[in-house]
Amino acid sequence: MNRVIPLQPSVSDCDSTDRAILKERGQREVFCGLTGIIWLHRKIQDAFFLVVGSRTCAHLVQSAAGVMIFAEPRFATAIIDDHDLAGLADANEELDRVVDQLLTRRPDIKMLFLVGSCPSEVIKLDLSRAAERLSKTYTPRVRILNYSGSGIETTFTQGEDACLASLAKEIPQVAKNHPHEKEVELLVVGCLADVVEDQFSRIFNELGIHSYAFFPPRRSGDIPRVGSQTKYLLVQPFLTDTARTLEELGAKRIPAPFPLGIEGSESWLRAAANAFGIADERFEKAIAPKRERAKLALERQRTILNGRTIFFFPDSQLEIPLARFLHRELGMQLTEIGMPYIHRQHLAEELALLPKDVALSEGQDVEKQLDRCRNYKPDMVVCGLGLANPLEAEGMTTKWSIELVFTPIQGFDQAADLAELFARPLVRRTKLAA
Ligand code: SF4
Repeated sequence: MNRVIPLQPSVSDCDSTDRAILKERGQREVFCGLTGIIWLHRKIQDAFFLVVGSRTCAHLVQSAAGVMIFAEPRFATAIIDDHDLAGLADANEELDRVVDQLLTRRPDIKMLFLVGSCPSEVIKLDLSRAAERLSKTYTPRVRILNYSGSGIETTFTQGEDACLASLAKEIPQVAKNHPHEKEVELLVVGCLADVVEDQFSRIFNELGIHSYAFFPPRRSGDIPRVGSQTKYLLVQPFLTDTARTLEELGAKRIPAPFPLGIEGSESWLRAAANAFGIADERFEKAIAPKRERAKLALERQRTILNGRTIFFFPDSQLEIPLARFLHRELGMQLTEIGMPYIHRQHLAEELALLPKDVALSEGQDVEKQLDRCRNYKPDMVVCGLGLANPLEAEGMTTKWSIELVFTPIQGFDQAADLAELFARPLVRRTKLAA
């Protein structure tokens, strides 16, 4: 889907813990940021995502979200065709017409995202201006925002970051002389499945943290107030721009590993508890039963995964927290962990938990990486859809990274399900070989 010309030769770099990281800038095989619409439209339930793109973009979003044939869809593509590319039509007028048709037909839409793509960038269609212009017509009935999901600018999960960063700019400012406009004290940032949000809500309440909110909210009108009294916890390692926007509002990040697996979930919650001065006994009382239950549930998958080797191609940006979980809690042996980019600060706690000898790479030069993967001969390869089929044909067992973003995987109750996602392909391969 997304192929780029090599920009510069590979170089090595070190992270803050002096860990060598191989940096590559070659051809990459990842989906673009439009893919994020598939989980974003489920999360913000009164929002609509209008991709301004080509038939290729429409095809990508439609096939990735085949489920939508059962429902009134909450995304669509305004097609840029040859006519527009040749400059024969005013794309802005076309866009206004499409938006008008959509909002007339769908009064349930409260927030509209205009999502940029490679073609809209190529014809230099300024969607921020379009959003501003259209807002004048439709505010307050509909808020109109924009972000880019283009493959030129974003990889797979960066679409969520771009979307949330544009939403974060909508966070209402707290007026200094209005102390009753209270800021939320804990903001949990990143898309979580509703079931996971509900589990975390119960834990925060048990811990005595009552002023909390999730971002994005389920309803677009429920955007919390954020300011210097707000501390925020990231649930994903790919929210760089969103974090920056929140910090511009005065919010402070709580450094923590990500809530994947038992260890990640406990450390993430402990970081929140420490930030709010929750006593150790109270924390232990709330967490211990969940931790013990999750440990028991993990045992079966551990017998399947223990000692097996795994290789990660860069795709979802979840690779480092996943590798940490699979290695430390399930005994898998790590070969190479590839990430599209490594945010040293946001991943500092995760990097500290990885073994020193694991190979880390950032960016991609896919042919070279394929060679390294073949040399390792791993028991399992985590990669995007484009690489999975050819690697399976070569006899490797693969796990699609996209599935890890669609599935609820965070928190104690999901640790065993997450492990099972990796165990299942290995069991299937063993059965086929028998
Ligand atoms: Fe392909 Fe670009 Fe459209 Fe993504 S935005 S589907 S990479 S053309």
